[in-house]
Amino acid sequence: MCSREYCKDKRIKVRPVPGWDNYYVTSNGEVYRVQRLTPLKNAKGYLRVRLNNGQRRILQFIHRIVVSAFDKRRELNPETETVDHNDGIKDHNCRHNLEAVTNAVNNHRKYNGYDKEQFDITKSLPGDPF
Ligand SMILES: [Zn+2]
Repeated sequence: MCSREYCKDKRIKVRPVPGWDNYYVTSNGEVYRVQRLTPLKNAKGYLRVRLNNGQRRILQFIHRIVVSAFDKRRELNPETETVDHNDGIKDHNCRHNLEAVTNAVNNHRKYNGYDKEQFDITKSLPGDPF
């Protein structure tokens, strides 16, 4: 359960991570593979986890995993889809705090000075190899 009072995510749900067998993600942004994975915070403050399905190994942003599992039910397109944090808090990865936007919307917001910081980094996908 999320401790932020304004957050709509009061009930935690679990979904499989699309494209990654054996991985599960909760609606408040915890990623599991048997055990919960330890999130790694990058320099800009976004949380990532390591995903490995035997064929692909990437360091993926948790906000992308949550939207992929709960909103889209498929993997996000790294070229065209980015994810916004509605409240601007970079490690608040509850599903209702996240919004998938196209790069067109993203660029429009960027152009209009809307939360510049968070855009370039959420776009850096499919993830750095590790
Ligand atoms: Zn929350």
